[in-house]
Amino acid sequence: MPVANNAQLNTNRPAPRDLEALLGCLQPDAARALSNALEGRDLSVEEALVLFDATGLEYSALVMVADELRRRTVGDVVTFVVNRNINFTNVCIKRCGFCAFSRDYREEEGYFLPITEVVRRAQEAWDYGATEVCVQAGLPPQMEGDLYIQVCRAIKEALPDMHIHGFSPEEVLYGSVRSRCTIREYLQGLKDAGVGSLPGTSAEVLDQELRDRIAPGRISVEQWLEVITTAHELGIPTTSTVMFGHLETNEHLARHIALLRDIQQRTGGFTEFVPLSFVHTEAPMFMKGLVDNVRPGPTGMEVVKVHAIARIMLNNWMPNIQASWVKEGARMSQLLLTAGVNDLGGTLINESISTAAGAQHGQLMRPSQFRQIIRQAGRIPAERHTTYAIKRVFSDADEALDPLDLVGDNVEEIFGSYQRLVKLDTYRFAHPRRLARKGAARGSDSPQGLPNEGGASDAEEHNPSDPEDDQG
Ligand code: SF4
Repeated sequence: MPVANNAQLNTNRPAPRDLEALLGCLQPDAARALSNALEGRDLSVEEALVLFDATGLEYSALVMVADELRRRTVGDVVTFVVNRNINFTNVCIKRCGFCAFSRDYREEEGYFLPITEVVRRAQEAWDYGATEVCVQAGLPPQMEGDLYIQVCRAIKEALPDMHIHGFSPEEVLYGSVRSRCTIREYLQGLKDAGVGSLPGTSAEVLDQELRDRIAPGRISVEQWLEVITTAHELGIPTTSTVMFGHLETNEHLARHIALLRDIQQRTGGFTEFVPLSFVHTEAPMFMKGLVDNVRPGPTGMEVVKVHAIARIMLNNWMPNIQASWVKEGARMSQLLLTAGVNDLGGTLINESISTAAGAQHGQLMRPSQFRQIIRQAGRIPAERHTTYAIKRVFSDADEALDPLDLVGDNVEEIFGSYQRLVKLDTYRFAHPRRLARKGAARGSDSPQGLPNEGGASDAEEHNPSDPEDDQG
C-alpha cells in the first residue's frame, strides 16, 4: 500500500565532500556503517549498535548523515497536522507501569465522555481548522464491544471529511474480545464505519520479556503484530512508535526498529515512525518503585541518537520520522529537525496522556508556532493530512493566522483539559453494572457502557491465562 508523500524531493545531490572527508576521520566501524547508509544500504542491527555507542566526532557524524539522508529523501519541507486528541475515557482495566493517565473504575477521577460529547469535540476541532481527530482511550470495564465502531459512525455522520485516526492495537484487540469476533472482522468493522488510520501505539518496545516487566498483561508482541499487519492488509495505514528511556537496551531499540522495517517492506502500511521518550515523573513503575532499575527517561543525546538512527535505518522504507513536541518540547523538537526529522506531529488541542505523566509542554501547539519553529531551523513549513498528503506549503511571506492561532491563553476554558475533566462530575464514570441496576430500578436503559448481549464478563476480562483475552 503506497504511502503518500508530497514533500520536496531532492535525491540526486551527492553527499557533501566535507561529510565524506569526515567519515575518513572516524573509528572504522562507525565510518563503515555511516558510509553504507550514505550509499543507500539498509543498516543491520549490529551496525545500528555501533552508532548507538557513538560519542564525540562519531556522534556528530551520525547526526550529519541522518540529516543528509532526510534531505535526499524528503527535502526541506517539515510537516505538521492540525488535529485534536479525544481521549474519551481514562478508565482502564489494565495497569501498565508507565501509564499515569489511566484510573481504576473505582477511583474518583475516572471519566467517560458520551458519544455526543466526542462528536461535539470533533465538530469544534473542525471549526478550528482540524482535519483529523485522534481518538484513543483507556479500556473501560464491560465496554460495549462495538463502542469504537459507534464512535466512528457518529463522527463520520456529522463530519464526513474528518479523518479519524483512532484506536491503538490494544483497543482493537479489546474491541474484538468484547465483540467476540476476530481482529480482522473488528478492523473491517472500523474501516466500514470510517476509521482512516490507526495509531501504532501500545508498541512500547516489541520485546516480550521487556513488556512483561514494564506492563504485564499488555497486548503481546504477537498480537500487536497481528493487529498492525491485518490493518495494513485491509488498507488501513498506521503509524509506528517506540517508547524509550526506561529499561530497554540499545539492542532492544535496534531490533525494534529493524522489526518495523521488516513489516514495512512487506506491507508498506506505516505512514511514519515516532520515537516517544518515557516521561517518568508520574509513571507508577517509577514513582512507586514497581519495577527495578527504571531510568528517568532518556538523556538528550539518547533522544537525538534514536531519531537519527531511526532515520538511517528506515530511510529506504519509511520517509517520515516525527519528533513528538509533547515529549520533547518545542526546543528539542527543533533541534531534532537537524537529526533526520521531517515532521512535528499535530496541534493536538487536548494533549492528556503525557500531561498526566508529568510532561510540561502544554496541551496545544498552534500552527503559527509550528511555522516559526520550522522556519527558524531554515526549513519550509507545510500543513499535511494524516497520511502525509500536503495540504498547503507556507512561503516565507505567508503569515496568515489560522483559527487556532487566534485562541488566547485561555485554552483550557475553550477546549477543557485533562486536569479539569478528572475533577468534573458531569462525565464521571459509572460502572455499567451500577448503571444497569439503576436502569432496572427505573425501568430504563443505561446511557453508558452497557455490555453487549453475550459480551465478555469482568471475570473473563481479568483472566490472564486465556490467550484470547489480554485484559489481565
Ligand atoms: S497504557 Fe493504555 S492500556 Fe495501559 S493502563 Fe494506560 S490506558 Fe490502560
